[in-house]
Amino acid sequence: MPARNLTILGATGTIGVNTLDVVAMHPQRYRVLALTGQNQVERLATQCRQFKPLYAVVTDEARARELRHLLADTETEVLWGERALEEVASLPEVDTVMAAIVGTAGLKPTLAAARAGKRILLANKETLVMAGRFFMQAVRRGGATLLPIDSEHNAVFQCMPEPYSGDLDTHGVRRILLTASGGPFRTRALDTLDRVTPEEAVAHPNWVMGRKISVDSATMMNKGLEVIEAHWLFNARPEQIEVVIHPQSIVHSMVEYRDGSVLAQLSHPDMRTPIAHALAYPDRIEAGVTWLDLTRVGPLSFEAPDLRRFPCLGLAYRALAAGGAAPAVLNAANEVAVQAFLDRRIPYPAIADTLAHALDRLADRPAGELDALVAIDQEARAVAAAYIDAR
Ligand code: NDP
Ligand code: MG
Repeated sequence: MPARNLTILGATGTIGVNTLDVVAMHPQRYRVLALTGQNQVERLATQCRQFKPLYAVVTDEARARELRHLLADTETEVLWGERALEEVASLPEVDTVMAAIVGTAGLKPTLAAARAGKRILLANKETLVMAGRFFMQAVRRGGATLLPIDSEHNAVFQCMPEPYSGDLDTHGVRRILLTASGGPFRTRALDTLDRVTPEEAVAHPNWVMGRKISVDSATMMNKGLEVIEAHWLFNARPEQIEVVIHPQSIVHSMVEYRDGSVLAQLSHPDMRTPIAHALAYPDRIEAGVTWLDLTRVGPLSFEAPDLRRFPCLGLAYRALAAGGAAPAVLNAANEVAVQAFLDRRIPYPAIADTLAHALDRLADRPAGELDALVAIDQEARAVAAAYIDAR
């Protein structure tokens, strides 16, 4: 079998590092053609020395100079800027693109991969939340293949009949059950949530992840974004997507069929499992993870989420029901609010307040083409920032 040629967008992040870890186990199967990063230039340089890509991309010129210096004695060509990210995502010789940049910055390069008909390993859920209809259209028109990396959606994908037609009803699927750990504040007294610190919020009980998604897990905004992600990936209506809290993070999601069967995918919470699944699909390869011994993991429990504790989850359902640009508004306002919380400018409960405010102001905007979505994203950021400043 010829080796697959990879571009890894966001190689220096948690998902990027885990991807390279799996890739390193299978040197015959994968060749890395491009790696990208933003601030972690030294880590990117180390990765380039190990994987010898043709291109390394950073976001600005100063970092490009730094990286060129670090890689002066290598063959890797250093590029910088948004355009370069789009270029390495659509190189003719690349067949697979890992989309693992965090946030809205991931949209354009992921879109470029879709238009170029690549096999896209999608970690950047913000692309679907912000521009779901537009992105799915680009995937279809470009003839791209979409494989979910997000552990829940990867689990759902694995429990779905193949090939999936894009219509749950035809396959007899009644509901998609997305599991959520409930994060670090699942049992914390509600009246103490205003004293939550960024350190407490990013300390996830089961997963090691970037800071933004860790805060999203604490508020359950992450699950809200995933409900919207599931809507687009599986063409599921909001009432067909249910969230179940499962604190042990062993069952990564489930699919319920009309006849009462529920299929689940289980593994230790280690992103290398979904990454290896999507990298090798439809084959199966080793991921370097610990084998799951169910006799030793202890009891698995499930409970319904409390929307008073997790108002962000309710807001995500609200945005999905509103449709149009509402999910893009939610996503943009959330990025601003999470950053303000991490910078200690707002208390933890104000994250949800900021999102509710942005939705009140902008939820009825229609979702247009890319330019319109980018404009609404900017407007939502401004509305959220003004709300935070005025508090
Ligand atoms: P990290 O913050 O760990 O990594 C983000 C990556 O994107 C880094 O390589 C970073 O570069 C790069 N980056 C950040 N900002 C920009 C920008 N403006 N332009 C270009 N590159 C940028 O995030 P994660 O790896 O945790 O998450 C990546 C994506 O995967 C997110 O969308 C997240 O929601 C999703 N995801 C993550 C999961 C996880 O377990 N971590 C699970 C499911 C989904 P640098 O570090 O060099 O600055
Ligand atoms: Mg997830």
